[in-house]
Amino acid sequence: MEQILISACLVGDNCTYKGGNNYSPKIRELLKHYELIPFCPEVEGGLRIPRDPSERKGDRVVSIKGKDVTKEYELGARRALNICQALKVKVAILQERSPSCGVHLIHDGSFSNKLIKGEGTTTELLRSHGIKVLTIDEIDELLK
Ligand code: SF4
Repeated sequence: MEQILISACLVGDNCTYKGGNNYSPKIRELLKHYELIPFCPEVEGGLRIPRDPSERKGDRVVSIKGKDVTKEYELGARRALNICQALKVKVAILQERSPSCGVHLIHDGSFSNKLIKGEGTTTELLRSHGIKVLTIDEIDELLK
């Protein structure tokens, strides 16, 4: 069965910055066709649950308290890539709007809930190595 890397919060892991999840019932449909590998880049990069919210600011990632957490985000992204390369994973399904996992949209760095076009640090690294990254709302093409 083909393997897909997926944001851990989408399968129900309580790993968001608030300690909650983004469980999607669409996971059940995916599981009929794929083996899912849940992964949270922020936790794997060394950040705690709960943690301060962070946003991308140019090529950095900064918390709402002004702490530079770029290193942790980069480590999480590299670990995601390592798993994909080791297991020959070609597709990832990641959580939209996250500074790690955002697929088409991220917050603008002002912590005012404003969204801009952009991608999370993990999405960016995976895509730069040829891995396709989709949101959970774009999985129809995987279920044909
Ligand atoms: S980093 Fe990704 S997997 Fe982890 S909580 Fe945020 S959106 Fe979910």
